[in-house]
Amino acid sequence: MKQTVNMSQSIKDYPLQETRNGILSWWDSVEHRHFPWRETKDPLKILAAEILLHRTRADQVVTLYQLFLKKYPDINSIAQSSPGELVESFRSAGLQWRWELLHSMAVDINARFNGQIPQRFDDLISLPGVSHYIASAVRCFSFGYPDVLLDTNTVRIVGRVFGLPITDSSRRSTLFRGILEELMEKERCRDFNFALLDFAAKVCRPKPIHEQCPIKKHCKFYKLNELKFEGILKNG
Ligand code: SF4
Repeated sequence: MKQTVNMSQSIKDYPLQETRNGILSWWDSVEHRHFPWRETKDPLKILAAEILLHRTRADQVVTLYQLFLKKYPDINSIAQSSPGELVESFRSAGLQWRWELLHSMAVDINARFNGQIPQRFDDLISLPGVSHYIASAVRCFSFGYPDVLLDTNTVRIVGRVFGLPITDSSRRSTLFRGILEELMEKERCRDFNFALLDFAAKVCRPKPIHEQCPIKKHCKFYKLNELKFEGILKNG
């Protein structure tokens, strides 16, 4: 469907601050999802996690992530490694090409960036296998830039809250990205991106749990269907 709504129409009169605060307050009050890559700001660890997580569930990746970084703790050791010891672990998880990608990336970082993972978006995205999402995740989680993360999870939240149709191209939509940028809490960008990911996993799931939602009074999808949802809630 052709996207005809522009950003100023979408956020006009919308309580961005309350929504931003609602999501962050919710995150501050619940148990966070714990993953080893959330405990670090080391750009190599963030980059490795994001490459492994691409289209793969987090719980499938944890062991491989730990094995990989124990064996190859820095860019040099990855660049100088040859397919061997760890490949079988990657192969049995169906992720062998991720190992190859990490290796090519490390070689490239050594050759062009003197072994340092770059901070500039254009440099990051020029590395093998680094998408817009991965470059933004490394910049935010490692270096503290307020970059937004547009994926199926955040698209689902924005589409519902702002009443926008969600299509296959929404992940590349400047409208969705612009709204997320307006919503971003720049002073707590790392927390805010983690909060959105947890909110998408725990509350605004594909099958949403509206009754636990801290921002439902600002959610256009909820408001449009409120009577139906309230009826469902009352009837159990
Ligand atoms: S009210 Fe429902 S659809 Fe809207 S943001 Fe909350 S959980 Fe998602």
